[in-house]
Parts: sequence; C-alpha cells; structure tokens
Amino acid sequence: MAALRVLVGVKRVIDYAVKVRVRADGAAVQSDGVKHGLNPFCEIALEEAVRLRERGAAREVLAVSVGPPACQETLRAALALGADRALLVAVGPAAAAALGPPDVARLLAALARAERPDLVLLGKQAIDDDCNQTGQMLAALLDWPQGTFASRVEPEGAGAVRVEREVDGGRETLRLRLPAVLTADLRLNEPRYATLPAIMKAKKKRLEETTPAALGVSLRPGLRVLALAEPPARQPGRRLETVPELLAELRRAGRL
Ligand code: AMP
Repeated sequence: MAALRVLVGVKRVIDYAVKVRVRADGAAVQSDGVKHGLNPFCEIALEEAVRLRERGAAREVLAVSVGPPACQETLRAALALGADRALLVAVGPAAAAALGPPDVARLLAALARAERPDLVLLGKQAIDDDCNQTGQMLAALLDWPQGTFASRVEPEGAGAVRVEREVDGGRETLRLRLPAVLTADLRLNEPRYATLPAIMKAKKKRLEETTPAALGVSLRPGLRVLALAEPPARQPGRRLETVPELLAELRRAGRL
C-alpha cells in the first residue's frame, strides 16, 4: 500500500488550564495576555498522523492552522511534535475573531484540493467554541467519506482505512475509502510531549503561508455573537447534621 499523505488541522485556543473570563464589554472572552496552546483534540489528531508516519503507513504530515499570525506559535508546536510541514492560512485579527466552522471547512477544502492528501485528520472539536462541526462540513464539501470520533485508525490495503468509533452502547467499525476525513476522539492515543531538541529544531523550520484569497475563498461569517455571560456564581453550601434536617430542608425548598 502506498504511504499516505496526511493533512492535520491544528487550532490555536486558550490553554485548557486557564480559567476563561468574559471581557468587560461582554462581546468576547479575555484573550490578551492569556496562555494559548494547541487544541487538545488537534494534538491527538497530530499524534495519530505522526504515529502513522513512524510505522511507515504515512509519508508526510502537513499541519495547517487558520488564523492570525499568533498561530505560527501553534504551528511551531506542531512541528516540534513531529509534523513534517506547517502551513498558516493567514487571516487578519477581525476576520479571525469571526471565523467559524463553515469558513474553516471551505478553506481546508480548497487546501485539500490543492495538496491532495489521502487523509485529513482533525480534532473532534475545538475546546473554545465546542462546535464539533468542521470535520463533518469538510467531508460534505469534498464529498469524501467521514469517520468522526475515531478511537482507532488502521490503514488497509487498496486505498482504505478502518476506523473504530465509540458510539452509545458499544463500538462501531467502519471501512472508509480514501481520501477521507477523520476526527479524533479522546481515546485515540496519548499525545507525546515535545522534546527540547525537537522544539529547537522546529524553530529553524520554514513555515509556509497562504491566504484565503490565494485559495480562492472569500470569508463570509454567517453568525454573530450577541452576548456572552459567565455562569451564575454558585450559592455557598450548608452543612446539615442529620437526615431529618436534610428532608425538612428539601421539603421547604419544594424538592420533595
Ligand atoms: P470545531 O468544529 O470548531 O469544534 O473544530 C473541530 C476541528 O476542526 C479542530 O479540532 C481542528 O482540527 C479543526 N479546526 C477548527 N478550526 C480550525 C482552525 N482555525 N485552524 C485549523 N484547524 C481548525
């Protein structure tokens, strides 16, 4: 079987460990001066692509990020984790703030037509917008088969891939004809940490860059965030000494 070329979408998001705050104007979350990193599900997608290459099933891993210049950092991290090439689809700050799955999917579709990968691997969702849409939209635009929420990926002969997906009450196994779009679930693998030498080497690698215009895509954000609000503060709890007290409280609160 010919070794595959794999395109991985890597999104820059606020680090998962940061407590996200809504900006005072309520129009967005605070992102200035806040630690960012690779979306965790994109790390899993990238790890899978790198493992495929390490066992000879893939021959090239291209990491792609769509967003502002700060995404170069994300792409450097992807190179340090094992990507062979990294490409930024550069979008200005205002357009980047309005970017959503339909636009990203159209950009990745244009790129897939130009780069002709055998496999596109994305995260199942980005932890900032929790959309879980880009992979599905991309597969629809390209008219390629899709294997979402993949928990195991096994290339097969004759241009196909076997994918296991965790579904309600069990596991589903699919055989997809290539080229195909896959999205990575949590249990697909445990991503490695980048080593210091790999980080140093990644700093010297060339980052490729393109624009939506060069890909023939005009961005047309179809949705506008009207308001963002923090969840209401939790009421402090109260310790009760006995079960009858608890029952009385529940009755008083109309919960019993
Ligand atoms: P979403 O549909 O927004 O939850 O994102 C699902 C996946 O699509 C992510 O894990 C990425 O693999 C990919 N993706 C979404 N937005 C971008 C972006 N701006 N740049 C690169 N990949 C992205």
